[in-house]
Amino acid sequence: MKTTKLFTTCALIGALITAGTFCHADSNHERKNGNSAANAQKIDPLATAKIADLKKELVEGNARFISGTLRHTKVSVADIKKVTLSPQSPKVGVVSCSDARITPDSIFDSAPGDIYSIRNAGGVAGGTLVRSIAMGIYDLKVPFILFLAHSDCNTTKMAIEFYNHQFEKKPEVPENVRELANIIQPAIKAANKVSAQFPNTDFATLVAIETQWKNIEFILTTSPYVRKAILDGKVTFDVGTYDMKTGKVSFVDSDSAAKRILSIISELETKNVLE
Ligand SMILES: [Zn+2]
Repeated sequence: MKTTKLFTTCALIGALITAGTFCHADSNHERKNGNSAANAQKIDPLATAKIADLKKELVEGNARFISGTLRHTKVSVADIKKVTLSPQSPKVGVVSCSDARITPDSIFDSAPGDIYSIRNAGGVAGGTLVRSIAMGIYDLKVPFILFLAHSDCNTTKMAIEFYNHQFEKKPEVPENVRELANIIQPAIKAANKVSAQFPNTDFATLVAIETQWKNIEFILTTSPYVRKAILDGKVTFDVGTYDMKTGKVSFVDSDSAAKRILSIISELETKNVLE
């Protein structure tokens, strides 16, 4: 079987994994012996249930945050020591912006040590992000990683200024900030294409969401390890948005996320950019 077709099958499997299914098949084995989609699409109900439970825990924690009925309002030194004197064992990973007003721990009302948090300005893709994702999967065995956009993001708004050539009148903007804004330009173009479908979402928030999809695309393109981890069912990716006004985190539904990841991989195949 040609590699392209084989990878298309694996992409489908990856999409199913993202939707909460699990692939037992070994992709190298299939390369040598021919693929059987029927064998590859076995479902592991335990893995499906585990991801659903983790997501439910995040949703419930966010509901407590919104209602003000927090469980983890005060973290004592004893709580911290209990965590730091034990091995790291986070339940989920969250990729997000380093906005000073919110933290994943607070908006999900999570216990110390529960969230492997990967943050940078804008929550943008790059080698550091990919290496942190790989570390989370390999060393910390994180089974679920949420790519979390947020509204009212300074970095995103700055990237939109860059897009609209407003930086041309601002020579004082440092080169590093220009580089950061430049990284987000493909997400702005992507948001432009879909903005008509989301009339109730402000454009900057759409860009922040598309930035997270571009992150996933970057990771799938540049890390064979992470790609295989997805195909093998070791990790599931999902995308969400935090609303700064309401405090609510909205998730992309699993089916939509699965279809989009399938679409990303198919497109990468077509361009023949996968390693
Ligand atoms: Zn931000």
